[in-house]
Amino acid sequence: MERTHKPSAAPWVPETKNLNRLREAAKDCEGCSLYQNATQTVFGEGSRQSRVILVGEQPGDEEDQQGRPFVGPAGKLLNRALEAARVDRSELYVTNAVKHFKFSPRGKRRIHAKPSATEVSACRPWLQAEVAAVNPQLIVAMGSTAARSVMGREMRVMSDRGQFFSHEWAESVLVTVHPSALLRIPEHERREAEWKLFVRDLGMINEWLTKHPKS
Ligand code: SF4
Repeated sequence: MERTHKPSAAPWVPETKNLNRLREAAKDCEGCSLYQNATQTVFGEGSRQSRVILVGEQPGDEEDQQGRPFVGPAGKLLNRALEAARVDRSELYVTNAVKHFKFSPRGKRRIHAKPSATEVSACRPWLQAEVAAVNPQLIVAMGSTAARSVMGREMRVMSDRGQFFSHEWAESVLVTVHPSALLRIPEHERREAEWKLFVRDLGMINEWLTKHPKS
């Protein structure tokens, strides 16, 4: 496949709104260098009819091995937070801004490494194709990488969280933190406070859906 100068998944993204075809095509993506060390592409999953897409940063170690998004520690925390916010995960489509696991080897461990702006931009065509296929009303961007990918620009997650933004991909975009950020807070009290804020943000999904019935 011919390479474009700037890293981009675009040459691998088929013109289709069929999620299975997109998922199959993404397995072969070499749009940036991240495919070289990861086990496999981790594509999004969930209902084709979802009114909401949740976007995270990138697959973690467990996601990389299982080939599914949000199955590791951050995914488990996300599940608990969604439950606390009374949001049914089975009614959501969940994915990541970047589809391959980026890490630094440390002994036998693989330590998460933040994807660069170039890698986020390279992978954006997959996210755009997923959004076009699912056609959600609301996109929830969790963390700075997801917010940057969805909005196409730098976002200040701590001040933008809990706010809705207009967007050409959907009726609205809600920004919040990434669940892995909570896992990194050592102090119990601060972690509890952040947990409440995260559940509050996720609770806005149902409020928004109620106010914006599908036409
Ligand atoms: S991270 Fe995205 S653009 Fe890069 S190789 Fe993987 S799927 Fe392709």
